[in-house]
Amino acid sequence: MELLKQKILNEGKVISDQILKVDSFLNHQIDPVLMEAIGTEFAKRFAQSKVTKVLTLEASGIAVALMTGLALRVPVVFAKKKRPSTLTDTAYFGRIHSFTKEEDVDIMVSANYLNNNDRVLVIDDFLATGEASRGMIEIVHQAGATLVGVGIVIEKAFQDGGNSLRDEGVRVESLARIAKLENGSIYFL
Ligand code: 5GP
Repeated sequence: MELLKQKILNEGKVISDQILKVDSFLNHQIDPVLMEAIGTEFAKRFAQSKVTKVLTLEASGIAVALMTGLALRVPVVFAKKKRPSTLTDTAYFGRIHSFTKEEDVDIMVSANYLNNNDRVLVIDDFLATGEASRGMIEIVHQAGATLVGVGIVIEKAFQDGGNSLRDEGVRVESLARIAKLENGSIYFL
């Protein structure tokens, strides 16, 4: 995804050697044309996987997941970070440690929207330690559904989340893989 790489190079801000800020097109303002291209790319990569649901985490994953679901013509479910008072259904839960916010977060999905017939594609904006992806995978398992893989917009390959998931046999597709962030510069793998 050359378009994505150019966008990261042109607009990404290296906050530290660990954190990249992409608020101008992904995490605050959203570029719909880029999101459409990303959704099309994930749909292409998982075209043979018989996906029935796309699962993401609010809020930053939703735009990417929506465009992926649109391209695959399947519903998109987002895990909520707080149990809303309107939610009285049975639910699946996961707990993740937020790398950027440095806190534990409980995530949940109503049992109405995932079941054991589903083939689930997990989508997220970033992959760092893998906590967010693992929390969503836990929810897929609780539902008795099948995980077809994980689609990530930006993988920080210098953190171990992606490779530890791959080592466990999870199919991880990342559209941009960053080898390192150093002195304000971004280096791709
Ligand atoms: P993980 O759970 O894999 O450690 O981190 C993934 C989650 O943390 C993503 O959902 C993303 O919201 C956030 N995140 C991790 N690293 C970064 C980063 O460098 N920049 C931004 N903007 N978000 C990040």
